[in-house]
Amino acid sequence: MNAAPSPLVDRIGRRHTYLRISVTDRCNLRCRYCVPPEGVDLAPRSHILTLEEIERLARLFVSLGMTKLRVTGGEPMVRRGILSLLRELGAIPGLEELAMTTNGSLLSGSIDAVAAAGVTSINFSLDTFRRSRYLGITGRDELDAVLDALDRAFSIGFRKVKINCVVMRDINDDEVLDFAAFTRQYPVAVRFIEYMPFGGNTWTADRLVPYTETLTVLRDTFVLQPLPQRDGETARSFAIPGHAGTVGFIAPMTNHFCARCNRLRLTSDGILKNCLFRHGSVNLKELMRDGATDSEIGDAIRGAVSEKRAHRGGNAAIDPVLLASSRPMFRVGG
Ligand code: SAM
Repeated sequence: MNAAPSPLVDRIGRRHTYLRISVTDRCNLRCRYCVPPEGVDLAPRSHILTLEEIERLARLFVSLGMTKLRVTGGEPMVRRGILSLLRELGAIPGLEELAMTTNGSLLSGSIDAVAAAGVTSINFSLDTFRRSRYLGITGRDELDAVLDALDRAFSIGFRKVKINCVVMRDINDDEVLDFAAFTRQYPVAVRFIEYMPFGGNTWTADRLVPYTETLTVLRDTFVLQPLPQRDGETARSFAIPGHAGTVGFIAPMTNHFCARCNRLRLTSDGILKNCLFRHGSVNLKELMRDGATDSEIGDAIRGAVSEKRAHRGGNAAIDPVLLASSRPMFRVGG
Protein backbone atom coordinates (compact mmCIF):
# COMPACT_ATOMS: atom_id res chain seq x y z
CA MET A 1 0.00 0.00 0.00
CA ASN A 2 1.29 3.51 -0.84
CA ALA A 3 1.94 5.77 2.13
CA ALA A 4 -0.06 9.01 2.05
CA PRO A 5 2.10 11.75 0.52
CA SER A 6 3.51 14.24 3.02
CA PRO A 7 1.63 17.53 3.12
CA LEU A 8 3.06 20.64 1.53
CA VAL A 9 4.82 22.19 4.52
CA ASP A 10 7.68 24.62 3.97
CA ARG A 11 10.88 25.15 5.96
CA ILE A 12 9.22 27.48 8.46
CA GLY A 13 6.24 25.22 9.00
CA ARG A 14 3.63 26.90 6.80
CA ARG A 15 1.21 24.31 5.52
CA HIS A 16 -0.06 24.93 1.99
CA THR A 17 -3.72 24.19 1.45
CA TYR A 18 -4.74 26.79 -1.12
CA LEU A 19 -3.91 26.81 -4.85
CA ARG A 20 -4.77 29.67 -7.17
CA ILE A 21 -5.05 28.50 -10.76
CA SER A 22 -4.92 31.03 -13.57
CA VAL A 23 -6.82 29.39 -16.43
CA THR A 24 -6.04 32.00 -19.09
CA ASP A 25 -3.97 35.15 -19.59
CA ARG A 26 -6.77 36.66 -21.70
CA CYS A 27 -9.22 39.19 -20.35
CA ASN A 28 -12.10 41.17 -21.82
CA LEU A 29 -11.27 44.24 -19.70
CA ARG A 30 -8.21 46.50 -19.83
CA CYS A 31 -7.91 47.66 -16.23
CA ARG A 32 -5.25 50.32 -16.11
CA TYR A 33 -3.81 49.00 -12.84
CA CYS A 34 -3.38 45.54 -14.31
CA VAL A 35 -2.75 45.67 -18.05
CA PRO A 36 -0.10 47.92 -19.64
CA PRO A 37 -1.70 50.77 -21.63
CA GLU A 38 0.26 49.85 -24.76
CA GLY A 39 -1.41 46.41 -24.83
CA VAL A 40 -0.05 42.98 -24.12
CA ASP A 41 1.63 40.09 -25.85
CA LEU A 42 -0.46 37.07 -25.00
CA ALA A 43 1.10 33.66 -24.78
CA PRO A 44 0.58 31.45 -27.85
CA ARG A 45 -2.27 29.01 -27.17
CA SER A 46 0.09 26.05 -27.23
CA HIS A 47 1.90 27.55 -24.22
CA ILE A 48 -1.29 27.64 -22.16
CA LEU A 49 -2.24 24.60 -20.10
CA THR A 50 -5.01 22.52 -21.66
CA LEU A 51 -8.11 21.83 -19.62
CA GLU A 52 -6.92 18.23 -19.14
CA GLU A 53 -3.53 19.43 -17.90
CA ILE A 54 -5.19 21.80 -15.43
CA GLU A 55 -7.44 18.98 -14.19
CA ARG A 56 -4.52 16.62 -13.77
CA LEU A 57 -2.52 19.16 -11.79
CA ALA A 58 -5.52 20.15 -9.69
CA ARG A 59 -6.12 16.50 -8.71
CA LEU A 60 -2.48 16.10 -7.87
CA PHE A 61 -2.40 19.24 -5.73
CA VAL A 62 -5.52 18.11 -3.86
CA SER A 63 -3.92 14.72 -3.26
CA LEU A 64 -0.97 16.63 -1.76
CA GLY A 65 -3.21 18.38 0.74
CA MET A 66 -4.75 21.36 -1.04
CA THR A 67 -8.31 21.83 0.21
CA LYS A 68 -9.12 25.06 -1.61
CA LEU A 69 -8.78 25.87 -5.30
CA ARG A 70 -9.39 29.30 -6.78
CA VAL A 71 -9.87 29.71 -10.52
CA THR A 72 -8.65 33.07 -11.77
CA GLY A 73 -7.03 34.62 -14.85
CA GLY A 74 -6.94 36.77 -17.01
CA GLU A 75 -10.67 36.50 -16.89
CA PRO A 76 -11.72 32.89 -16.19
CA MET A 77 -15.06 33.34 -17.94
CA VAL A 78 -13.34 33.94 -21.30
CA ARG A 79 -11.67 30.51 -21.18
CA ARG A 80 -13.40 28.12 -23.57
CA GLY A 81 -14.68 25.11 -21.65
CA ILE A 82 -14.62 26.91 -18.30
CA LEU A 83 -17.90 25.37 -17.13
CA SER A 84 -16.76 21.83 -17.82
CA LEU A 85 -13.44 22.60 -16.09
CA LEU A 86 -15.29 23.91 -13.05
CA ARG A 87 -17.42 20.76 -12.96
CA GLU A 88 -14.31 18.58 -13.06
CA LEU A 89 -12.62 20.60 -10.34
CA GLY A 90 -15.77 20.69 -8.22
CA ALA A 91 -15.90 16.88 -8.28
CA ILE A 92 -12.35 16.29 -7.01
CA PRO A 93 -12.60 14.16 -3.86
CA GLY A 94 -11.15 15.93 -0.82
CA LEU A 95 -11.66 19.43 -2.14
CA GLU A 96 -13.48 21.61 0.40
CA GLU A 97 -13.77 24.91 -1.43
CA LEU A 98 -13.86 25.87 -5.09
CA ALA A 99 -13.64 29.62 -5.58
CA MET A 100 -13.45 31.93 -8.55
CA THR A 101 -12.12 35.46 -8.98
CA THR A 102 -13.80 37.28 -11.84
CA ASN A 103 -14.54 40.73 -13.12
CA GLY A 104 -18.16 39.53 -13.29
CA SER A 105 -18.94 41.13 -16.63
CA LEU A 106 -19.51 37.81 -18.44
CA LEU A 107 -20.96 35.93 -15.51
CA SER A 108 -24.63 36.71 -15.28
CA GLY A 109 -25.89 34.28 -17.95
CA SER A 110 -23.76 31.41 -16.63
CA ILE A 111 -23.96 31.98 -12.92
CA ASP A 112 -26.44 29.15 -12.26
CA ALA A 113 -24.15 26.75 -14.12
CA VAL A 114 -21.14 28.06 -12.20
CA ALA A 115 -22.94 27.38 -8.91
CA ALA A 116 -24.11 23.96 -10.11
CA ALA A 117 -20.52 23.08 -11.05
CA GLY A 118 -19.59 23.36 -7.39
CA VAL A 119 -18.21 26.88 -7.11
CA THR A 120 -18.93 27.96 -3.54
CA SER A 121 -17.24 31.35 -3.39
CA ILE A 122 -16.99 34.20 -5.87
CA ASN A 123 -14.75 37.25 -5.67
CA PHE A 124 -15.81 40.10 -7.91
CA SER A 125 -13.24 42.71 -8.87
CA LEU A 126 -15.03 46.03 -8.72
CA ASP A 127 -13.34 49.34 -8.11
CA THR A 128 -16.17 51.82 -8.63
CA PHE A 129 -19.95 52.09 -8.66
CA ARG A 130 -19.86 54.91 -11.21
CA ARG A 131 -20.42 54.02 -14.80
CA SER A 132 -18.17 56.58 -16.47
CA ARG A 133 -15.43 55.89 -13.96
CA TYR A 134 -15.76 52.15 -14.55
CA LEU A 135 -15.25 52.80 -18.24
CA GLY A 136 -12.21 54.95 -17.43
CA ILE A 137 -10.62 52.30 -15.19
CA THR A 138 -11.42 49.18 -17.20
CA GLY A 139 -11.73 50.54 -20.72
CA ARG A 140 -15.14 48.84 -21.10
CA ASP A 141 -18.71 49.91 -20.36
CA GLU A 142 -19.63 46.81 -18.36
CA LEU A 143 -20.67 48.10 -14.96
CA ASP A 144 -24.34 47.18 -15.38
CA ALA A 145 -23.43 43.61 -16.34
CA VAL A 146 -21.21 43.29 -13.26
CA LEU A 147 -23.88 44.65 -10.91
CA ASP A 148 -26.42 42.29 -12.45
CA ALA A 149 -24.11 39.31 -11.84
CA LEU A 150 -23.46 40.49 -8.29
CA ASP A 151 -27.17 40.70 -7.66
CA ARG A 152 -27.68 37.20 -9.01
CA ALA A 153 -24.82 35.91 -6.87
CA PHE A 154 -26.61 37.19 -3.77
CA SER A 155 -29.87 35.56 -4.77
CA ILE A 156 -28.21 32.20 -5.53
CA GLY A 157 -26.65 32.21 -2.08
CA PHE A 158 -22.99 31.34 -2.61
CA ARG A 159 -21.19 30.49 0.60
CA LYS A 160 -19.05 33.60 0.16
CA VAL A 161 -19.35 36.63 -2.11
CA LYS A 162 -16.55 39.17 -1.94
CA ILE A 163 -15.68 42.38 -3.74
CA ASN A 164 -12.03 43.22 -4.38
CA CYS A 165 -11.55 46.95 -4.71
CA VAL A 166 -8.09 48.30 -5.57
CA VAL A 167 -7.90 51.72 -3.93
CA MET A 168 -6.08 54.31 -6.06
CA ARG A 169 -5.52 57.90 -5.02
CA ASP A 170 -7.48 60.45 -7.07
CA ILE A 171 -9.00 57.64 -9.11
CA ASN A 172 -11.49 55.90 -6.79
CA ASP A 173 -10.39 56.63 -3.21
CA ASP A 174 -13.39 58.95 -2.79
CA GLU A 175 -15.68 55.89 -3.02
CA VAL A 176 -14.53 53.88 -0.04
CA LEU A 177 -17.50 55.06 2.03
CA ASP A 178 -19.87 54.03 -0.79
CA PHE A 179 -18.35 50.54 -0.77
CA ALA A 180 -18.73 50.30 2.99
CA ALA A 181 -22.32 51.55 2.72
CA PHE A 182 -22.99 48.79 0.16
CA THR A 183 -22.38 46.21 2.90
CA ARG A 184 -25.35 47.52 4.86
CA GLN A 185 -27.83 45.71 2.65
CA TYR A 186 -25.73 43.02 0.99
CA PRO A 187 -23.98 40.05 2.65
CA VAL A 188 -20.70 40.77 0.92
CA ALA A 189 -17.12 41.02 2.14
CA VAL A 190 -15.65 44.16 0.58
CA ARG A 191 -11.86 44.05 0.60
CA PHE A 192 -9.88 47.20 -0.05
CA ILE A 193 -6.61 46.24 -1.72
CA GLU A 194 -3.45 48.33 -1.81
CA TYR A 195 -2.39 49.19 -5.32
CA MET A 196 0.71 47.22 -6.32
CA PRO A 197 3.25 47.92 -9.08
CA PHE A 198 3.51 45.17 -11.68
CA GLY A 199 5.14 44.83 -15.06
CA GLY A 200 3.82 47.66 -17.25
CA ASN A 201 0.93 48.91 -15.10
CA THR A 202 0.50 52.60 -14.42
CA TRP A 203 1.49 52.46 -10.73
CA THR A 204 3.19 55.44 -9.13
CA ALA A 205 3.99 55.81 -5.44
CA ASP A 206 1.58 58.71 -4.98
CA ARG A 207 -1.35 56.57 -6.23
CA LEU A 208 -0.82 54.08 -3.41
CA VAL A 209 -3.27 54.61 -0.55
CA PRO A 210 -1.89 52.81 2.52
CA TYR A 211 -4.60 50.76 4.20
CA THR A 212 -4.28 52.78 7.42
CA GLU A 213 -5.52 55.80 5.50
CA THR A 214 -8.58 53.96 4.17
CA LEU A 215 -9.20 52.60 7.66
CA THR A 216 -9.15 56.11 9.12
CA VAL A 217 -11.63 57.37 6.53
CA LEU A 218 -14.00 54.50 7.31
CA ARG A 219 -13.64 54.92 11.07
CA ASP A 220 -14.73 58.55 10.80
CA THR A 221 -18.14 57.34 9.61
CA PHE A 222 -18.59 53.73 10.73
CA VAL A 223 -17.97 51.69 13.86
CA LEU A 224 -15.56 48.93 12.83
CA GLN A 225 -15.41 45.80 14.97
CA PRO A 226 -12.38 43.60 14.26
CA LEU A 227 -13.18 40.02 13.24
CA PRO A 228 -10.85 37.11 13.97
CA GLN A 229 -8.50 36.24 11.10
CA ARG A 230 -9.04 32.73 9.80
CA ASP A 231 -6.15 30.45 8.85
CA GLY A 232 -4.30 31.76 5.83
CA GLU A 233 -6.57 34.78 5.53
CA THR A 234 -4.81 37.80 4.07
CA ALA A 235 -7.47 40.39 4.84
CA ARG A 236 -8.02 42.09 8.18
CA SER A 237 -11.78 42.18 8.37
CA PHE A 238 -14.26 44.22 10.34
CA ALA A 239 -17.97 44.01 10.99
CA ILE A 240 -20.04 47.17 10.97
CA PRO A 241 -22.97 46.99 13.41
CA GLY A 242 -26.24 46.71 11.51
CA HIS A 243 -24.56 45.75 8.22
CA ALA A 244 -25.14 42.42 6.47
CA GLY A 245 -21.62 42.40 5.06
CA THR A 246 -18.10 43.22 6.24
CA VAL A 247 -15.15 45.33 5.16
CA GLY A 248 -11.53 44.27 5.09
CA PHE A 249 -8.08 45.37 4.04
CA ILE A 250 -5.44 43.56 2.03
CA ALA A 251 -2.20 45.43 2.48
CA PRO A 252 0.61 43.74 0.56
CA MET A 253 2.53 47.02 0.24
CA THR A 254 2.54 48.29 3.80
CA ASN A 255 1.79 45.28 5.95
CA HIS A 256 2.76 41.95 4.50
CA PHE A 257 1.01 38.80 5.64
CA CYS A 258 3.68 36.26 4.74
CA ALA A 259 3.65 34.50 8.11
CA ARG A 260 0.10 33.32 7.40
CA CYS A 261 0.71 32.39 3.77
CA ASN A 262 -0.80 29.04 2.82
CA ARG A 263 -0.99 29.51 -0.94
CA LEU A 264 0.68 28.55 -4.16
CA ARG A 265 -0.02 29.90 -7.63
CA LEU A 266 -0.19 28.10 -10.95
CA THR A 267 0.06 30.42 -13.95
CA SER A 268 -1.88 29.83 -17.14
CA ASP A 269 1.31 28.66 -18.85
CA GLY A 270 2.00 26.10 -16.17
CA ILE A 271 4.56 27.82 -13.94
CA LEU A 272 4.28 27.13 -10.23
CA LYS A 273 4.93 30.26 -8.17
CA ASN A 274 5.56 29.76 -4.48
CA CYS A 275 5.19 33.50 -3.86
CA LEU A 276 3.56 36.38 -5.70
CA PHE A 277 6.79 38.33 -5.31
CA ARG A 278 9.07 35.70 -6.72
CA HIS A 279 9.60 34.48 -10.25
CA GLY A 280 8.23 31.04 -10.93
CA SER A 281 10.14 28.24 -9.38
CA VAL A 282 9.15 25.27 -11.52
CA ASN A 283 7.61 24.70 -14.93
CA LEU A 284 4.98 22.01 -14.40
CA LYS A 285 3.75 22.20 -17.98
CA GLU A 286 7.15 21.19 -19.33
CA LEU A 287 7.40 18.38 -16.83
CA MET A 288 3.99 17.04 -17.87
CA ARG A 289 4.71 17.40 -21.58
CA ASP A 290 8.04 15.64 -21.11
CA GLY A 291 6.13 12.67 -19.71
CA ALA A 292 6.73 13.08 -15.96
CA THR A 293 4.71 10.83 -13.68
CA ASP A 294 2.45 12.22 -10.96
CA SER A 295 5.02 11.18 -8.42
CA GLU A 296 7.78 13.12 -10.22
CA ILE A 297 5.55 16.18 -10.53
CA GLY A 298 4.69 15.83 -6.84
CA ASP A 299 8.39 15.88 -5.99
CA ALA A 300 8.86 19.04 -8.06
CA ILE A 301 5.95 20.70 -6.24
CA ARG A 302 7.39 19.70 -2.87
CA GLY A 303 10.75 21.10 -3.96
CA ALA A 304 9.16 24.46 -4.83
CA VAL A 305 7.43 24.58 -1.45
CA SER A 306 10.64 23.81 0.40
CA GLU A 307 12.37 26.71 -1.39
CA LYS A 308 9.73 29.21 -0.34
CA ARG A 309 11.21 32.21 1.47
CA ALA A 310 9.90 33.53 4.78
CA HIS A 311 8.92 36.97 3.50
CA ARG A 312 8.00 38.51 0.17
CA GLY A 313 9.85 35.97 -1.90
CA GLY A 314 13.12 36.74 -0.11
CA ASN A 315 12.97 40.51 -0.62
CA ALA A 316 13.57 42.56 2.52
CA ALA A 317 10.89 45.04 1.55
CA ILE A 318 8.55 45.68 -1.30
CA ASP A 319 10.75 47.22 -3.94
CA PRO A 320 8.58 48.88 -6.59
CA VAL A 321 11.35 48.63 -9.17
CA LEU A 322 11.72 44.92 -8.61
CA LEU A 323 7.98 44.38 -8.61
CA ALA A 324 7.55 46.42 -11.74
CA SER A 325 9.83 43.95 -13.51
CA SER A 326 7.69 41.04 -12.40
CA ARG A 327 4.84 39.34 -14.23
CA PRO A 328 1.75 41.47 -14.56
CA MET A 329 -1.28 40.33 -12.58
CA PHE A 330 -3.19 39.16 -15.61
CA ARG A 331 -0.44 36.59 -16.16
CA VAL A 332 -0.41 35.48 -12.53
CA GLY A 333 -4.04 35.68 -11.50
CA GLY A 334 -3.81 38.01 -8.50
N1 SAM B 1 -10.15 38.91 -14.28
C1 SAM B 1 -10.38 38.50 -12.94
C2 SAM B 1 -10.80 39.65 -12.08
O1 SAM B 1 -10.89 40.78 -12.58
O2 SAM B 1 -11.06 39.43 -10.91
C3 SAM B 1 -9.22 37.74 -12.29
C4 SAM B 1 -7.82 38.23 -12.49
S1 SAM B 1 -7.39 39.73 -11.71
C5 SAM B 1 -5.70 39.88 -12.23
C6 SAM B 1 -7.24 39.24 -10.03
C7 SAM B 1 -7.16 40.34 -9.00
O3 SAM B 1 -5.94 41.03 -9.14
C8 SAM B 1 -8.26 41.38 -9.11
O4 SAM B 1 -9.02 41.40 -7.92
C9 SAM B 1 -7.52 42.67 -9.29
O5 SAM B 1 -8.15 43.72 -8.64
C10 SAM B 1 -6.15 42.35 -8.70
N2 SAM B 1 -5.11 43.24 -9.21
C11 SAM B 1 -4.71 43.35 -10.49
N3 SAM B 1 -3.72 44.28 -10.59
C12 SAM B 1 -3.52 44.75 -9.33
C13 SAM B 1 -2.64 45.71 -8.78
N4 SAM B 1 -1.79 46.39 -9.54
N5 SAM B 1 -2.67 45.94 -7.46
C14 SAM B 1 -3.53 45.26 -6.67
N6 SAM B 1 -4.40 44.32 -7.13
C15 SAM B 1 -4.40 44.08 -8.44
